Amino acid sequence: MAAQGHRFDPTILREYDIRGIVGRSLTPSDALALGRTLGTIAAAGSGRVAVVGYDGRMSSTVLEEELCRGLAACGLYVLRIGLVPTPCLYFTARMLNAELGVMVTGSHNPPEYNGFKMVVGGKPFYGEDIKRLRDLASRGVWARAEGGVVEVDAMSAYVARVAIDYTSKRALRVGWDAGNGSAGPALLRVARRLKGEHLLLNETVDGSFPNHHPDPTVPANLEQLRDLVLEESLDLGIAFDGDGDRLGVIDDEGEIIWGDQLLAILAREVLKRHPGAPVLADVKASQVLFDEIERLGGKPIMCPTGHSIIKSMMSTHQAPLAGEMSGHIFIADRYYGYDDALYAAVRLINYLAEQKVKLSDLRKSLPQVINTPEVRIEVPEERKFDIVKEVKQRVLASGAEVNQIDGVRVKTAEGWWLLRASNTQNALVARCESHDEAGLAVLKKSVADQLQQSGVEGDAVKDLSV
Ligand SMILES: [Zn+2]
Repeated sequence: MAAQGHRFDPTILREYDIRGIVGRSLTPSDALALGRTLGTIAAAGSGRVAVVGYDGRMSSTVLEEELCRGLAACGLYVLRIGLVPTPCLYFTARMLNAELGVMVTGSHNPPEYNGFKMVVGGKPFYGEDIKRLRDLASRGVWARAEGGVVEVDAMSAYVARVAIDYTSKRALRVGWDAGNGSAGPALLRVARRLKGEHLLLNETVDGSFPNHHPDPTVPANLEQLRDLVLEESLDLGIAFDGDGDRLGVIDDEGEIIWGDQLLAILAREVLKRHPGAPVLADVKASQVLFDEIERLGGKPIMCPTGHSIIKSMMSTHQAPLAGEMSGHIFIADRYYGYDDALYAAVRLINYLAEQKVKLSDLRKSLPQVINTPEVRIEVPEERKFDIVKEVKQRVLASGAEVNQIDGVRVKTAEGWWLLRASNTQNALVARCESHDEAGLAVLKKSVADQLQQSGVEGDAVKDLSV
């Protein structure tokens, strides 16, 4: 009799993780099949231990249970660490040298979404790995052996490890917003261990996200925290995304410290400890960041956007620090190189306390430029890569200075502009940066022209061309 395979909805198998709408594109039977397939892959490796955690979404517990059942059916010993932030899962898998780590999480997406982030053999599982997983599942040839499932507490060790690197004698006053995501319980315990005064918002886990969406890259989601910082005259505010692997920061004047600015600030400390070391940032980051890394004696390296690929490149380059505009910060100096927003927050607060300056002073110490936020331009899914290819051909033919690491990033006398295909949506992402308004207008117009030449219309294009 032929083996009964499993077919995943193709839309949920993405470049860096698995993500879908629960009950529509992602079901408990997908979680079971994922467990059996990942379990089969892990069983072929050197270890037998899998660690599984989940975020605070309503659907997470059901998916987690099915996933664990699938893993155990392959002969794995599954350690269930329960409701944790994603970095706690990474930490535990690393400390136990587990063959497999899986986090059930929809990250910052709306409540109806959920998904999985995976680590196999200590490395992020993405790209070709996910294609292999799809093929293996469709064949349905799964490992069969007797495994087991146990519940363990991982949070105590994680919290202690994160808090230990706050060494400054100076106590700061900090506002925190867990966004009702899975960072809340860990944050409560970390904050108790830190010096200073800590005011917490939305630390209770609630998968309906009643107060605001847990995505700190969207300024509206930072308003509640910003108000708290200003009303209470706090030194800074820190917000987390739904699963605690990304952070957003508000300074003492209520201004947002963007991901690239945060990285530039952290680079000052890290490069002092690792002179000349490479620091990685994604293609959306400001030129200010790359220049600043160089000024600090480091080696700036531009990477494609995507947390899994940055983690891989970081270990290839042996970089002590990396980050993304989206607020993923990866620290391998005194830490383990995965994206841990709680740990990045502790390092930032500690650095700030040691400097005896305000966070707004650090922000103002960076060269001032003006840039657009990420501009999303909706296009048909099947056209998005072709449009970028067409634009690339045209700008290369014009003799412009082009970085092609992820889409096209074009340097001009006015500054730079970027156009790339989104990994997660049927959209293109554009960004422009210049030293003045006139320069920014020229860059925006160039992007709009390129889009129009490839037949892209719509409000986003119009907004760029005015
Ligand atoms: Zn996340």
